[in-house]
Amino acid sequence: MNRRTEERPAPRPAVAPQRIVKAETILVSIPFESGGTPPWSFGGSPRLQFDTLFVRLETEDGIVGWGEAFSRGEDKSLAALIETRVLPLVIGRNAFEISKIKFDLEFQLQNFGRIGPIVYGISAVDIALWDIMGKLTGVPLSTLLGGAFAGEVEVYASLMRYGNCADVVKATRQAIERGYRYIKLHEITENEIRASVEAAGSDALVMLDTNCPWSVAEALRYDELLKPLNLYWLEEPVWPPENYVGLARVKATGRHRIAAGENAGSLHDFVAMIEANAIDIAQPDVAKTGGVSELLKIAALCDAKGIEFVPHCAIFGPGQVATIHLSAAQRQLPLLERLYCDFEAELYRGETTPKRGKVRVPAGPGLGLDPALDVIDRYRVK
Ligand SMILES: [Mg+2]
Repeated sequence: MNRRTEERPAPRPAVAPQRIVKAETILVSIPFESGGTPPWSFGGSPRLQFDTLFVRLETEDGIVGWGEAFSRGEDKSLAALIETRVLPLVIGRNAFEISKIKFDLEFQLQNFGRIGPIVYGISAVDIALWDIMGKLTGVPLSTLLGGAFAGEVEVYASLMRYGNCADVVKATRQAIERGYRYIKLHEITENEIRASVEAAGSDALVMLDTNCPWSVAEALRYDELLKPLNLYWLEEPVWPPENYVGLARVKATGRHRIAAGENAGSLHDFVAMIEANAIDIAQPDVAKTGGVSELLKIAALCDAKGIEFVPHCAIFGPGQVATIHLSAAQRQLPLLERLYCDFEAELYRGETTPKRGKVRVPAGPGLGLDPALDVIDRYRVK
């Protein structure tokens, strides 16, 4: 027997396990100014309030991790579902075991859906666990992901759907004056789209997100009609979002680069999209598609398949902060989406608000930013 091995002290873990002792949802709704009069629908009714559905995890040593689930329309039922079905399964788990916890939640809850509210809750847990990991190890999320390739990320102004030329032109010019070089429209009629492209001129590139309004035949008609406008990309032209074969028919014309993915539930939806040759640009949402962990897998798939990875981000809480870190950690830096609106109060005291069309990558441990508790208190939905 080797004496030297015998005498070696037993290895000690560098960091002791950290049990999750508390898990809760916090729903916040903050009024915003849209820069026009958008008939913009948040879950059925036109609203000028924006929701953030936090998941807050706390470890036995009092380390707090913040996550976010996609939410619209003061959805207390969504918060309750996550609170009662997802979060109890996290209590007592070792916060370091991110992949293991995520797999167990997905496996145990698979009968409740692989896309939708349950997955939004799992996504939020994953984001919060990465925040805790960064705080426990003292490094920013972008460093945990392999290192930031840049200190700031370029943001595109994702305009509301105004449905009239005057407002869409006004918002286009205002966004350009604020320093944005990329503008995304949510219009679905030709006049508004053309008016914005003409108003942008050579000051900004314009892309179009239609949110799945058309049959394949209708989408093909618009694909031809809009070709002269040289849109930077065309997003979700076909209903329903999982109609990858239909989407592939639009992509096959070669007239537009096709973007989609915000309605996907996991890596495997992107495998199917790419196998169908349906997309040029993959848009997973960190708060809908399985959190930071799942987006890392999707980014690797895109890298291997030559697809652009440009996460969807129409939220303003920890999901947005996580998306900034994820974007910064890509060698080919994706543009960061930001819905174009001004809030009555900022969850991060303005730290995530773009300046001249760019946002800084937070340098603190974990997400690097914690939400303002006084803002949460003021706007909390009870
Ligand atoms: Mg979209």
